[in-house]
Amino acid sequence: MHIFSGKKAAYLTLGCKLNFSETSTIGRMLQEMGVRTAREGERADICIINTCSVTDVADHKCRQAISRMVRANEGAFVVVTGCYAQLEPERLSSMEGVDLVVGTHEKALMRQLLTERWTEALEAGVGRKPLHEHLTSERKDIDSFVASCARGDRTRWFLKVQDGCDRFCTYCTIPMARGKSRNAPISDLVAQTREAACEGAMEIVITGVNIGDFGKSTGENLLDLLERLDQVEGIKRFRISSLEPDHISDQLIDFIAGSRAFMPHFHLPLQSGSDRMLRLMGRHYGQSLFAQKVEAIRARMPEAFIGVDIMVGCRGETPDMFEETLLLLSNLDVSKLHVFPYSERPGTAALKIPLKVDDEEKKRRSRLLLDLSDRKMRSFYERHVGREAEVLLERPQQGKEMHGFTENYIRVELPLETGSMEDDNQIVRVRLRGLNADDSLVLAERLE
Ligand code: SF4
Repeated sequence: MHIFSGKKAAYLTLGCKLNFSETSTIGRMLQEMGVRTAREGERADICIINTCSVTDVADHKCRQAISRMVRANEGAFVVVTGCYAQLEPERLSSMEGVDLVVGTHEKALMRQLLTERWTEALEAGVGRKPLHEHLTSERKDIDSFVASCARGDRTRWFLKVQDGCDRFCTYCTIPMARGKSRNAPISDLVAQTREAACEGAMEIVITGVNIGDFGKSTGENLLDLLERLDQVEGIKRFRISSLEPDHISDQLIDFIAGSRAFMPHFHLPLQSGSDRMLRLMGRHYGQSLFAQKVEAIRARMPEAFIGVDIMVGCRGETPDMFEETLLLLSNLDVSKLHVFPYSERPGTAALKIPLKVDDEEKKRRSRLLLDLSDRKMRSFYERHVGREAEVLLERPQQGKEMHGFTENYIRVELPLETGSMEDDNQIVRVRLRGLNADDSLVLAERLE
């Protein structure tokens, strides 16, 4: 009998889609080793916590989550991994109840590490002391690629195609946490996508840290990858989680516009609409290039959903720089803004910029952008009312209505009586009727 047979694991993921897909992959690996997921309220034998370090608030939440997991699962073998684990391994491994902190490079060795350290824990027996061990490598040595293609919490699947980043934007710790840019070969990714299709995947979100960099480590390129994925039978929809503005070429826009399964849905990290601020941030484009990309997308796909990331209150952001951002975004036909207040990160170059924006002013700037986002989202939704669309239905929560997303990422709700739980992961045709009370989704009726 395998040493893990009959054991139960609990998982906790903080942060981005990439983390969620990697946790699913660890879960699948443990399942193959005989470990089942602990039910709610059940004490787990193994706890896996996948951390994020995007802000100081994220760091704090991770530490709280670890403490909660340790308290709720007394005596469990506790493993912490993810970006925060890579950046502060000593601090996390010394926390009460933590056995193992596994860095970015060492994630590839997870099966072996778990087996070895679990055996040690078993030998120590009841009342054992936590190991408090950490295993991390320096950034220059992080070159392993942990493949991951897994179903997320709901209906969509996540295919990790790339990891790491070589850009070093001045506010960002991701290049330190995730290492240099690298990717899986196209042939492997196509094989994983075929497997997902066989397991019933209908929609796959392509994830990575800097997806436009795809091909750097294999001598391939993103367009070739997308063309090959588009041919995989069974997958009805692909979305790309995020693309740097300067990585969006006319060829790529043309390809998505004419492809079989790539949805008219873009997520672009602009961060600031001021050229002076973009230079301070170390970004690779100016506001005019960004505006050109949005216009090029609109020219080929007038109904595309365009989501934009904005960071407010970065060191160096003067009131007039913020006004430039507000003006640029007010004039651009984008669908939604994702607003993030700047957070000081240890070890980043931004800390050398003298001008600091105080918290109240950050909140004021965030509110202005969020109000603008609400107006843009409402107008984007309103212009679709009365039209027909295809929606991929997602498993509803208990007692909630059916919901899903259109091709261009409009969130749609359907009365539960028009469908059933079996409709999860099915594409249905609907007519969009009108917005709900808080304009957060579009109510629809089923046409077939
Ligand atoms: Fe961070 Fe910039 Fe790389 Fe994005 S492109 S991960 S913001 S360094």
